[in-house]
Amino acid sequence: MINILDYSLDKLEKLLVNEYGQKAYRAKQIYRWIYEKRTLDFDKMSDISKSFIDVLKKDFCLDIPSIFLKSVAKDGTIKILASLSDEEKVEAVIMRYRYGTAACISSQVGCNMNCAFCASGMLKKKRNLTAAEMVGQIILLNKILEEEGKGDRITHVVIMGTGEPFDNYENVVDFIHIINSPFGFAIGARHITVSTCGIIPKIYEFSKLGLQVNLAISLHAPNDEIRNRLMPVNKAYPIEDLIKACKDYVGATNRRLTFEYILIKDVNDQEIHATQLANLLHGLNCYVNLIPYNPIQEKPYERSDEVSIKNFLNYLNKRKITCTIRKEFGRDIDAACGQLRAKVK
Ligand code: SAH
Repeated sequence: MINILDYSLDKLEKLLVNEYGQKAYRAKQIYRWIYEKRTLDFDKMSDISKSFIDVLKKDFCLDIPSIFLKSVAKDGTIKILASLSDEEKVEAVIMRYRYGTAACISSQVGCNMNCAFCASGMLKKKRNLTAAEMVGQIILLNKILEEEGKGDRITHVVIMGTGEPFDNYENVVDFIHIINSPFGFAIGARHITVSTCGIIPKIYEFSKLGLQVNLAISLHAPNDEIRNRLMPVNKAYPIEDLIKACKDYVGATNRRLTFEYILIKDVNDQEIHATQLANLLHGLNCYVNLIPYNPIQEKPYERSDEVSIKNFLNYLNKRKITCTIRKEFGRDIDAACGQLRAKVK
C-alpha cells in the first residue's frame, strides 16, 4: 500500500502520471481533498472518477497515527502521545502564541544524539518517522483544534519534538514540502522551523534547497570543551566547522539563523560563556534564543537562576547580539523543551 501522505505534490504527480497514466492535475485534486477539505476518505473525493477511486482504494491508503493519550496544561498547551502503526509512540504538542498556533512535531522514535541534558535522547532511536507520520501528527492536532470549535488551526510548525531531523533528512524534507505546498496545508515557509543539533553535511545540503524555512541550531555551549561534554555530536562536528557551515547557510539563503542556547546553572551560564558566545557569533546574521533549562529527573543539571539568565541576556544585548528568552509551554505536563520522551503514564 502506498500512503499518499508520504508524497510531496511533485512526487505524487510523477507517480500518478508515470505509473497510473493519469493527468498531472489528479494529484492536485487529491491534495485538495486531503489538506484543504480535510478528508481521508477516498469515497468523498467527488470530482474523481469512480474507476480511479477504485484504483486508489486498492493501491493507496491515507493512514495516520492515532491518539493514545492527550494532556492539557494549565497554560492551554496540549500534548498528545500518538501511536504509530507498529505501536511505537511519539509526542506532539500544540502551543498557542499571540500570532498563531504552533505544532511541535517529532521526527524520530527516540534519538541517537545522546545530549547529556535531554530526556528525549534517553530512548535510543528505534526508527525514523515517515513523512506520513509527521503529516499525521499535524492532522491529529488540527482535529483536536477543530473539536474545540474555535476555528483555530495549526499555522506554525516547529520540528523540535523527539528526534534529530537531519538524521532523518529525506523524510523531513518531504514533510516540509508537503506542509508548505499551497495545495497542501499551505503553511508558509517562514512559519516552519527545523531545529538541528548541528549535523554539518546536512546544513550544507539544506542550504541548497532554496527553502525559506527557519533553521535553528542547538548550540548550547560557547566552546568545544563544554559542548563535547553536553553534546557528543560535537566530537564529530566541532564548533568551528559548525559556525563555518552556518555562515555558508546565511550566505546561500540570505536567511537569519537562530541559535538555541540552554542556560544550565554553573555549566554554561557565566559571563565568560556569554563573552565567548558573543565572540563566536560576532558578524553572523543570527539571533539567540535562550532557553532556561528544564530539569529532568534523571539528569544532574539545574536551571540557571533568574539573575544569571538576565545577566546573560543583557551581556549579549550589549554586544549587539539579538536575543530573546524562550517562552515556556506546558511544563506541568512535561511538554516543554527537552521533556518529550513518549512516557505512557
Ligand atoms: N534534535 C533537534 C531537535 C530537538 S529540538 C535539536 O537538537 O535541535 C529541542 C530543543 O530543546 C533543542 O534545542 C534541545 O537541545 C533543547 N532541550 C533538550 N533538553 C532540554 C531541556 N531539558 N531543557 C531545555 N531545552 C532542552
